[in-house]
Amino acid sequence: MSTHINHLSSEDLLDILLLSHNATAIYTGDDIIVQSANDAMLKFWDKGKSIIGLPLIQAVPSLKGQPFIDMLKKVWHTGNTIEGVDAEAVLEVDGLLQTFYYDFSYRGIKNPDGSTRCILHTATDVTERYLSKAREKLLNDELIITNRQLNRSQENLLLMNSNLAQSEAQLQFAIDAASLGTWDLNPVTNKFSGNDRLKLWFGLEPEEEIELTKATDVIAESDKMRVIAAIQHAMQFASGGDYDVEYTIINPKSQIPRIVKARGKALFNIDNEAIRFSGTLQDITEERKAREELTETNQRLQLALDAGKFGSYDLDLETGEMLCTEQCKLNFGRPLDKPFNFPDLMDVILPEYHKFIDKQIKNAVKHNTVYNAEYQIRWPDESRHWIRAAGKPRYNEQGKAIRMVGVTYDITESKMNEQRKDDFISIASHELKTPVTTLKSSLQLLNRMKDDPSPEMLPKLIEQSNRSMEKISSLINDLLNVSRMNEGQLHLNKSRFNISQLLIQCCSHIRASDKYDLIFDGDTALEVLADEDRIDQVVVNLVNNAVKYAPNSPRIYLSVAMEGDTAKISVTDNGPGILPEKLPHLFNRYYRADYSGIQYSGLGLGLYISSEIVRKHGGKIGADSEVGKGSTFWFTLPL
Ligand code: ADP
Repeated sequence: MSTHINHLSSEDLLDILLLSHNATAIYTGDDIIVQSANDAMLKFWDKGKSIIGLPLIQAVPSLKGQPFIDMLKKVWHTGNTIEGVDAEAVLEVDGLLQTFYYDFSYRGIKNPDGSTRCILHTATDVTERYLSKAREKLLNDELIITNRQLNRSQENLLLMNSNLAQSEAQLQFAIDAASLGTWDLNPVTNKFSGNDRLKLWFGLEPEEEIELTKATDVIAESDKMRVIAAIQHAMQFASGGDYDVEYTIINPKSQIPRIVKARGKALFNIDNEAIRFSGTLQDITEERKAREELTETNQRLQLALDAGKFGSYDLDLETGEMLCTEQCKLNFGRPLDKPFNFPDLMDVILPEYHKFIDKQIKNAVKHNTVYNAEYQIRWPDESRHWIRAAGKPRYNEQGKAIRMVGVTYDITESKMNEQRKDDFISIASHELKTPVTTLKSSLQLLNRMKDDPSPEMLPKLIEQSNRSMEKISSLINDLLNVSRMNEGQLHLNKSRFNISQLLIQCCSHIRASDKYDLIFDGDTALEVLADEDRIDQVVVNLVNNAVKYAPNSPRIYLSVAMEGDTAKISVTDNGPGILPEKLPHLFNRYYRADYSGIQYSGLGLGLYISSEIVRKHGGKIGADSEVGKGSTFWFTLPL
C-alpha cells in the first residue's frame, strides 16, 4: 500500500500562518505592498481586510515620517532581516494617534536566485510590558533621587545638630560667663525649671522643682506685686511677651538680699495662649550698689559745691554748648530757665580778659592741665563781679579734646577784701604818718631849745608830743588787737560787775572836753559776767564814733536794759545816720562808709574789733539808723 502525503499549497500554509495570534503581515515589492495581514496585525493598524493589496504607506498613513517604511525597503533590497525590541510606533487607533511599543521582525524571504521573494513581518505588542518597565525605571530613578535627597538631608541634619550643639555650648558658656540664672516656666502647670545658679539664689535644692508661688515668695515684699503683675502682663498675647523687671530676692536660707534683673519672653500658640515663658536672671547687686554709691558721691559733691557756692559746668568744646548747674548761672547773674552757652559766657566777660581766657583754655587742652582764670564779668544789671574759674579738658579715644569740665566761683567779696586790705595799708600808713610827723617836729623843736627852754613853749610841745604818742599807741593797739583776733588769741578775763557803773564812768576824756553830754538811762542794778576792760573798750569805741561821725550831736545817750537773759547796751547819737545798704557791712574788717565831701580819719577797725569782743562773750552787736535822725549802736551780753 502506498502512503499518500497530503502536500499543503503555499496559500494554505500562509492562511495557517496568518491564523497565528502573533501579528503577521507579508509585503512585496519596492512599494511594500501588503500581500496579506492577519487579524492581529489589522487590529494593530485599526484597519480592515480592504487594505490588502495597497502599499503599506497608503494602508497605514500614520506610518508616514516614521522609520518603518524605510527599514522595509532596505530589507526588500538586501533580503536581510531587521529586528527591533520596544520599538515605538505611533498609530491611529479609534481615530486617535496613539503610541505603542512593539518587538518586531522584518524577515526577508529569498527566492532560490537570491532575490527577495517577500518580507515576513511579525510583531508583538509589548506596550504594557514597556510601560510597566518604564514606570519601574521612573520609580527607580525617583527612588534614587529621593535617596540622594534623603542622604543630603541627613547630612544637613547632622550639620545642624552639630551647629546646634555648638550654639548650645556657646550659650551655656555665655550664661556661665555672665553668671546668669536661667528659668523656664510652663504656663500650663505654673512650674519652673531653672539652672543650679538660679536655684541657689532662690534657696532651693538643685533637684527641686519650682512652683511659681515658691519663687515669688522669695521676692522682697516691696517688689512682689510689681513682679507678679509683670509676669502676668508678659503672658498676655497683647504685651508681645516681653518681660524686663528688676527686683530684690531674699534668700530664705541665708536671708541675704540680692538685686536681680529678670529678662524673658513668652511664646504663644495660634490661639494666642502662652505656651512657654523663659528667660534669664542677672545679679545686679554690685552694679546697683556702685550706682547708688556714685549717686551718693555725686550728691555729696553737689552739696559741697552748693555750700561753697561753686557752680559747675560741662562745656562741649566743639559746639560751645554748656551744661551749667543753677549755681553756675547764679554766679553769672543769668536766669535759671535759659541756656547759658559759651558765646553767652564770652558776652558777659569784660573784653579785656578774652585773649587771656582763650590762651588759658588752649594751654590746658594742649598740655592736659587744669585751666585756671580770674576775670571780671558784667551782670545784666550792669554790676561787676569777679569770677574764678577752673576746668580740666576731657579727651576722646583719638586723643582729641572734646569737653572741658570744671567749676566757677564768685570771688567778688574776697577781691573786695583784698582791695580793702590794700587800701587799709595805705590808710594805716597815712594815719600813722600824721602823729609821727607832729611828734618828730615837736622833738626837733625841743631839741633846739634844750639849752634855753622857753617856759611857754616847753609845756605845749610836751603836751603835743604826748597827744601824738597817744594817737600812735592807740593806732598800734588797734592793729595789735586785729592781728591777735586773727590768730584767735583774744583772751577774756571775766568777772562779775555792774554794767551801769561802767557806762556812767566811761569816756572821761570826752566828759572832760565839755563839748558833749553823755546821758545815762537804764537799769542800774544789772550785773554781767564779762571782761570789764574789753567791754570798756567797746563802749569807748562806740562813743568815740558818735563823737567822730556825729560831731554836731552834742548829746550822746547811753542806756542799759534787760532783754531776755541778756543785758542790752546802746549808744545813740542824733547825727547824720547811716544809709540802710551800708548798715550790714559796718562790722566788717577794714570797712569804712564813705561820706561824700567829708574825710574822717580811721582804719575801719573799731567796729570790727568791738564785734569780735562781743562775739567772744557770746553776745550780739548791731546798729539801727535812720538817715537824718541818728544812729544807735547796741550790743548784748549774757547776764
Ligand atoms: P573807723 O571809725 O576807723 O572808720 P569803725 O569800724 O569804727 O572804723 O567804723 C566803721 C564805719 O562805720 C565808719 O567808717 C563810719 O562810716 C561808720 N560809723 C561808725 N559809727 C558811726 C556813727 N555813730 N554814725 C555814722 N557812721 C558811723
